[in-house]
Amino acid sequence: MQFDVVVIGGGLAGLSCAIRLAEQGKRCAVVSSGQSALYFSSGSLDLLAQLPDGSMVSEPLLALPALAQQAPQHPYSLIGAPRVAALAVEAVQLLERCGLKMQGSNQQNHLRVTPLGTCRATWLSPQAIPTAPFGDVLPWRRIAVLGIEGFLDFQPQMAASSLAAEQSVQVDEVSLHLPVLDRLRNNPSEFRAVNIARVLDRPENLAVLIEEIQRQAGQAEAIFLPACLGLESDEPLMALRQALGKPVFLLPTLPPSVLGMRLHQALRQRLQLLGGVFMPGDTVLRADFDGQRITGLYTRNHTDIPLRAQQVVLASGSFFSNGLKAEFGGIREPVFDLDVYSKPQREDWSSIDLFAPQPYLQFGVQTDANLRALKQGVAISNLYAIGAVTGGYEPLLQGCGAGVSLLGALHVAQQIAGQEGSV
Ligand SMILES: Cc1cc2nc3c(=O)[nH]c(=O)nc-3n(C[C@H](O)[C@H](O)[C@H](O)COP(=O)(O)OP(=O)(O)OC[C@H]3O[C@@H](n4cnc5c(N)ncnc54)[C@H](O)[C@@H]3O)c2cc1C
Repeated sequence: MQFDVVVIGGGLAGLSCAIRLAEQGKRCAVVSSGQSALYFSSGSLDLLAQLPDGSMVSEPLLALPALAQQAPQHPYSLIGAPRVAALAVEAVQLLERCGLKMQGSNQQNHLRVTPLGTCRATWLSPQAIPTAPFGDVLPWRRIAVLGIEGFLDFQPQMAASSLAAEQSVQVDEVSLHLPVLDRLRNNPSEFRAVNIARVLDRPENLAVLIEEIQRQAGQAEAIFLPACLGLESDEPLMALRQALGKPVFLLPTLPPSVLGMRLHQALRQRLQLLGGVFMPGDTVLRADFDGQRITGLYTRNHTDIPLRAQQVVLASGSFFSNGLKAEFGGIREPVFDLDVYSKPQREDWSSIDLFAPQPYLQFGVQTDANLRALKQGVAISNLYAIGAVTGGYEPLLQGCGAGVSLLGALHVAQQIAGQEGSV
C-alpha cells in the first residue's frame, strides 16, 4: 500500500498533522493502535502555563524567550519563538475547520475550572467549560454544582468545597435524581460519562433533566454539571441553557472524557472527509531502512506487505500510549529504536514524592530543529517525531501538552508539504 505520508498514532498530534497534509492534497494514512490521550483529557488544550523555574505564565508567546533559556531542548525552543507564534494562529484555524469552536486566545491564558473545583491556566477550552480571565475569579456569586445519583466519576462535594474556598462564592451541592438512568445505574461498570451522555442527549429526555435541575438548582446564578452531555454536539447543552435561562457548564469527569472524545471525533471526521485513511486497531511494529531512509512499515495486520510512504511521522504518544517503553535496560522507543532523552539510572526516573516533578515525564525521542527523529545521533531523512513521544519538556507541570502536539504537527506538515518532489 502506497501513501504520500504514513502517520503512526491517531492522537491530537497525528490527526492534526494528517489533516493539514490532506488539506494540501497529500494521500495520508494514520495507523493507530488504541485510544489516545484525548479520551482521558479535560478537553482543554494547554499552550504554556508554567516555566521550568516554576514561574506562572499568563502570556505564553511572550514567555518563549525565557523558555528557550531555561529549556533549550523544549520543542518550542527548537522550533523558535516567531514560528511558534505563527503556528498557534494556524492551530486555532485548523480546529475551527474541524468544527471546534473553542474559547481562549493565543495572547493570554485563561483559567478553567477543574473537576476538583480548582482553577488551572490553559490556552483553549470547549465552550461548555466554565472559565475566568487569568488572575480573576468566576463572574457568579452563587453556583450550583450538581452530581448525578450513583455516578462515582465526578464528586460534586469536592468541586463545591474548593470552589467555595477559592472563589469566595456560595456553592450549593446536590445530586440529580434521574430515573431515566436507572437501567445504567444498575450496572456500575456501565454507569460512565459516555453512556450517561448517550441517554441524556436524547431529545425525549431533555424535559426530565430540565425539571430536575430546576428543582435542585434553586437560586443559583450558574449551574455546573459533570460532562455527561453532548457526546456528538453542543446542542443538548445549548437547549438546557435556553430552557433554564441561566448559564449551564460542564466539568470534566474521570475518563472516558466526553469533552476529549468530542475533540477526537471532530478531528477524525475531518481527516476522513478529506479522504485520509484512518486505520484503527493496528500497530506499526517495525520498518525497513535504506541507509538513513525508511522504505517500508510493517504493522500487526500487515506483517508481509509493507505500507510504503515518502514520509513517515511518528506520533505514538508517551509511556501512556506505548510510544515509549520503560525496560530493564533503559527507556526505549519501540518501533525504530530512536535516540531518547532519559536518565541512565532507574532510581533517577521518578521522584518518591508523588507531588514533585517526575523526571520520566521529560523523557522522549530526540529530534533536530526540523523535528526529524534522531537515531545514533543522525537524523533519519524521512522520519519526523511529534507530540508526546518527543522529549525535552514536561507536559503536565509546564502545561504545554496539547500545544506541543498541535504546533509540532503543523510545523512538520508544512515542511513535508514544502519539500519539492517529496510526495
Ligand atoms: C491522561 C492524560 C491526560 C491529559 N490531559 C491533557 C489535557 O487535558 N490538556 C492538555 O493540553 N494535555 C493533556 N495531556 C497531555 C497530552 O499528552 C497531549 O495533550 C496530547 O493529547 C498528546 O497527543 P499525542 O497525539 O502526542 O499522543 P497520544 O494522545 O498519546 O496518542 C498516541 C497514539 O498513538 C498510538 N500508538 C502508539 N504506538 C503505536 C504504534 N506502534 N502503531 C500505531 N499506533 C500507535 C496510541 O494508541 C495512541 O492512540 C494529557 C496526557 C495524559 C496522558
